[in-house]
Amino acid sequence: MEPLVACRAPVARLFAMDMLRDIDPATGELIAEIPVSSPDQVTAAVARARAAADEWGDVPFDVRAELLLRVAERFDERQDELAQLVTREMGKPFAEARRESSARSKELAGVIETARRALAVEDVSEGSSRTHVVRDPLGVVAAITPWNFPLAMPTSILLPALATGNTVVFKPSEHVPLCGAVLAEIIGGDLPDGVLELVQGAGETGAQLVDADVDMIGFVGSRATGQKIMRAAGGGLKRLVLELGGKDPLIVFADADLEAAAECAVTHSLRNAGQVCCSVERVFVEDSVREEFERLVLAKASKWTHGSGFEPESRMGPMVDDAQRQKVHAQVEDAVARGARLLLGGTLADGPGSFYPATVLADVPDSSVMATEETFGPVVSLSTFDGDEAEAVRLANATRYGLGANVYTGDGERGLRVARRIRSGQVGVNRYLAGSSRAPWVGARESGFGFLGGVEGYRQFTVPKSISIASGG
Ligand code: ADP
Repeated sequence: MEPLVACRAPVARLFAMDMLRDIDPATGELIAEIPVSSPDQVTAAVARARAAADEWGDVPFDVRAELLLRVAERFDERQDELAQLVTREMGKPFAEARRESSARSKELAGVIETARRALAVEDVSEGSSRTHVVRDPLGVVAAITPWNFPLAMPTSILLPALATGNTVVFKPSEHVPLCGAVLAEIIGGDLPDGVLELVQGAGETGAQLVDADVDMIGFVGSRATGQKIMRAAGGGLKRLVLELGGKDPLIVFADADLEAAAECAVTHSLRNAGQVCCSVERVFVEDSVREEFERLVLAKASKWTHGSGFEPESRMGPMVDDAQRQKVHAQVEDAVARGARLLLGGTLADGPGSFYPATVLADVPDSSVMATEETFGPVVSLSTFDGDEAEAVRLANATRYGLGANVYTGDGERGLRVARRIRSGQVGVNRYLAGSSRAPWVGARESGFGFLGGVEGYRQFTVPKSISIASGG
């Protein structure tokens, strides 16, 4: 396939150390070399965003909304190009990349509507004076995003930040710089200068951006990086929204629809080669149905073949890079060494590309790394419990994370009780979590800080201000 090298021209003029090497994880081939933004360029991008901030914040909401709604057309025009880039740069199957890409234009109307509601003026008058609460934009938002959903993660920060009147400096992940560049072109196309700025680079560039003159950092990525950002932001008391990792449980009671529960366990452990923050990472099955459940899981997981995302029969592409698959493999080996049974996969694939096969482990012990650390790979990790509801809740909560959870049971009341007691931002009962795009997306405990989505999530890009006016004033 012809590489889409948006940044080809400047390549020859720069030294290798100033370049991001954008690698196709399915082949190991170089897609492009992208100039890394220098510290001066980061500072200049933030200065342009700062210079544009007041005016953009003052633009009447309907005008801002109109400008942003136009973005939908450009997303539609460049849907295929974006999907191709997603598959090339991070490997996911093209059909999934296409879904991620086509969803972008559709989300815009909802973005505008949610921003409108988030910015609505509240009347809190008491006594004879009038008081109302307005919401000001924060100013300049740094948007720092990961590679696993190279379009959906950035838009979850860029669009609410812009719609609520902030300017944005966007740093995409170093694994998907071309996706980031095209996104910035599409979203920034009609916006005034400085409203959306792009910088390119890895962690060092991200750290420079956090330290620069920004008012807020909107971040999606790992817990470890989230902690670094939180520390760095402390000096300037910068506002934060951090969406981090998870170690999501799926609890299967014996009275559940086992077929549906097994489908959920397999699909949401293996989707995107497990590289999803809200993947199912731990499955707890009631002892009495363990054999049947293992059989169902094995039958389903065996169908998850891997291969290049451009081959229509591949259900999983490669992992994003070799380091990621080595990390997963080390967790699998550790679990097996501690007594887990390997039912499927678990071997490093030969040949080019960072592929890891669909893997199923049973009896994963509490002492294994896989039981506690985020795996972020294509592994269905099975353990059992004795059927006691309190024990299921204890196991589900035995993690520092709190992103998502799923419960399958034939007893609806029990499903709700368990959902209420699990300490996480999202819970699915007899279905996979995340049923409404209007709900906030919350990382509870160490899965996040602040949150995105919904009216409350949009308000995190603003600061409330109460204006009191004397009676007659
Ligand atoms: P992942 O490997 O899942 O992408 P990371 O947390 O490593 O998770 O990276 C997410 C984003 O954070 C990427 O854009 C990355 O370049 C950026 N990043 C990494 N380290 C830092 C840092 N110290 N400060 C700011 N951004 C960083």
